[in-house]
Amino acid sequence: MENKCDVLIIGAGPAGIFTALEISEKNPELKILIVDKGRAIEKRKCPERAQGFCSKCDVCSITSGWSGAGAFSDGKLSLSPEVGGRVTDYMSWDQAQELINYADSFYLRFGARDVVYGLNNQKVEDIAYEASKYAIKLVPCPVRHLGTEHAFKVLKAMYDFLVSKPQVEFRELTKAEDLLVKDGKVTGAILNTKGEKYEVAADFVVVAPGRGGAEWLKAQTDKLNIITENNEVDIGVRVEVPNSIMDHLTKHLYEAKLVYYSDTFDNKVRSFCMNPGGVVSGELYDGEVAVVNGHSYADPKLKTQNTNFALLVSTRFTEPFNEPIEYGKYIARLANMLTGGGIMVQRLGDLLKGRRTDYDRLKKSTTEPTLKSAVPGDLSYVLPERYLRSITETLRAFDKIAPGLYSRNTLLYGVEVKFYSSKVKVNNNFETQISNLYAIGDGAGITRGLMQASVTGIVVARDILSK
Ligand SMILES: Cc1cc2nc3c(=O)[nH]c(=O)nc-3n(C[C@H](O)[C@H](O)[C@H](O)COP(=O)(O)OP(=O)(O)OC[C@H]3O[C@@H](n4cnc5c(N)ncnc54)[C@H](O)[C@@H]3O)c2cc1C
Repeated sequence: MENKCDVLIIGAGPAGIFTALEISEKNPELKILIVDKGRAIEKRKCPERAQGFCSKCDVCSITSGWSGAGAFSDGKLSLSPEVGGRVTDYMSWDQAQELINYADSFYLRFGARDVVYGLNNQKVEDIAYEASKYAIKLVPCPVRHLGTEHAFKVLKAMYDFLVSKPQVEFRELTKAEDLLVKDGKVTGAILNTKGEKYEVAADFVVVAPGRGGAEWLKAQTDKLNIITENNEVDIGVRVEVPNSIMDHLTKHLYEAKLVYYSDTFDNKVRSFCMNPGGVVSGELYDGEVAVVNGHSYADPKLKTQNTNFALLVSTRFTEPFNEPIEYGKYIARLANMLTGGGIMVQRLGDLLKGRRTDYDRLKKSTTEPTLKSAVPGDLSYVLPERYLRSITETLRAFDKIAPGLYSRNTLLYGVEVKFYSSKVKVNNNFETQISNLYAIGDGAGITRGLMQASVTGIVVARDILSK
């Protein structure tokens, strides 16, 4: 394809992919160029998964490349508008649900498993009632679990389907450097493929750079005078316990989304991204900041003895501070500094006793860490008191519905940070103040999960098709 197209999509995560799927489905004549600074899906290999430590690659294969941060994700598709973003700020609940169902049909068509958790209403109600006795809110949400290996296969099938079309091209290792605008209308972008800079002209530009590209998008919106709003930053830890402690919740819900307001600071603390039988993993932002995450495989042979989940404290900063992403990175860098660049792990018992977990103490832990490269340390040197206390108080509360959680052998990995990008001002079709320039997905601060990111792509595609 020459450097001219109808629709240029920046970022090949779910938001970008679903824009392309919907357009090529409805109007196969439109020329679509999808670019991503990462690699094609089959070339995405994270050395940490084989060697156990992060190689600090120039382009992180966990967060970049075809299928975005979703490729190696656990692939939990949240099937309710309640979870995974704020699309209901832009449409009615019913419209959001309809679009989720529609996007889900694509996932099924490309090979997602036909199993949905959290549909046994009586069980869900019983768990919600039990939780409410201890001031814990259960957020009900049916979940289709792809599993890490299936997420990869489903997104690869979408890739094969799209690139088999003559009008669709995917360019890997291609970074968008600058958006081009003339007379209030987008005209294309300056791209950089492996060091070679060139211009691509496009009638429509869809910017979907994910959390990893949020800072780049912020710089672009500042340059183009597009209004943005601060989002909150979620900072916390990844908790790892034996499956037996969480089984009674996860077998019905897969993911127990729990919310608690901490006793001392009244901060909102929530569980997020629960992975029964899963593994804790690391990921790298901007090639320098190591943060923790987790996922699990669907194949029973690949299940571990442990369940992990994030426990996050939400903070929305007020004026004059307007750099929540920088704040989150700063905290993550502190953990990196103390561990020689990696992820820290501490036993809850050691944290409560005010002492470091060292290798000897970690060996005594009955919960065996699944992230072997994690360095034992002391999270109290990393997380501010407000966060730490909110986390320990929440674990104590959750222990009432998951006895054993508030145990000395519970492992806490630090730090987990969710950078929710500045929220770009867009209309209900996710078009910015600049004509034909759209901003969607996690990078635009609108979504936080695979399903809602996919939904934003569909909405944009339909708007483009209607013009
Ligand atoms: C380990 C892990 C596990 C997760 N598990 C789940 C889960 O189970 N369920 C769930 O709902 N969500 C999960 N998530 C979150 C989910 O992956 C994201 O919400 C989703 O991928 C966001 O989609 P997106 O298209 O907006 O952005 P992304 O998927 O982040 O994709 C953005 C793409 O844009 C590219 N890019 C960025 N800047 C540029 C640029 N300037 N030029 C060119 N390309 C650029 C990036 O390389 C990236 O490939 C997980 C995330 C991680 C990291």
